[in-house]
Amino acid sequence: MHLKEALESCRQHGAAVLATNFYNAETLLAVLRAAREVGSVLILQTSPATLSYLGLETAVAMARAASREMGVTAWLHLDHARDTDLVRRCIEAGYDSVMIDASEKDFDTNVRLARDVVALARPRGVLVEAELGYVPKLGEREAEEFDMTSPEQAKRFVQETGVDLLAVAIGNAHGFYKRQPRLDIGRLKAIRESVDAFLVLHGASGIPDDQWIEAVRNGIVKVNFATEIKDTFMACLREAISGSDSIDIRQVFPPAMQAVTALVKGKMQLCGWQDSRVTPAK
Ligand SMILES: [Zn+2]
Repeated sequence: MHLKEALESCRQHGAAVLATNFYNAETLLAVLRAAREVGSVLILQTSPATLSYLGLETAVAMARAASREMGVTAWLHLDHARDTDLVRRCIEAGYDSVMIDASEKDFDTNVRLARDVVALARPRGVLVEAELGYVPKLGEREAEEFDMTSPEQAKRFVQETGVDLLAVAIGNAHGFYKRQPRLDIGRLKAIRESVDAFLVLHGASGIPDDQWIEAVRNGIVKVNFATEIKDTFMACLREAISGSDSIDIRQVFPPAMQAVTALVKGKMQLCGWQDSRVTPAK
């Protein structure tokens, strides 16, 4: 199934595909096990930092081999790329979709960069995601203080760039929320009516279940989930190694992996892929 078909099915059924970042073999296997147990598809994301850590070829080979071995339908996505050179390398390496993040730049620069990436990606059937409005990065100020996505600008942006996916700023933020977020669902609905691009929610860690479900019902078809994976994994790992002098790596990691699997299963259920009996669009 092409990623575009899956996203189209989600849009028709009011469901979403969960997009989880992985950082090493342990987090990769943990999220794939969640998908297998829930009966869900999955987008596996790598940030530029993860690609520096693992190496591009290694990351791709790991993701493809593990999904195949586990019998899970998974697509590979480049998350928050800042330069077109990395985008080009990922397209050549077989990524299914790529995100160019120029959301900190002015509108015209954002348009120009997104357009360049669409020109690179489209001939290869690779989907392009861009961000409009600004979703605060880890450790930055709170979402309310930043520009949210305007439906009018979103319409112009998608028309001028031809991007397939649009990451929206509707009160969401990366990292941990200092206080409970309040997603602007009215704004999301207006954006959905203005554009035909698939809408993406970044910063899903810490968003309460009811708001997550509302966002998916109202047009979000890809939900990016990362911070809580790292947090859960590390909290569990710290506990497992404190007071242990084991050198068996294969015994140290499994409790952290199991915790991540349980966490991700819950988030997949909020996305509703398995409940909506999504089938590939004809
Ligand atoms: Zn993000």
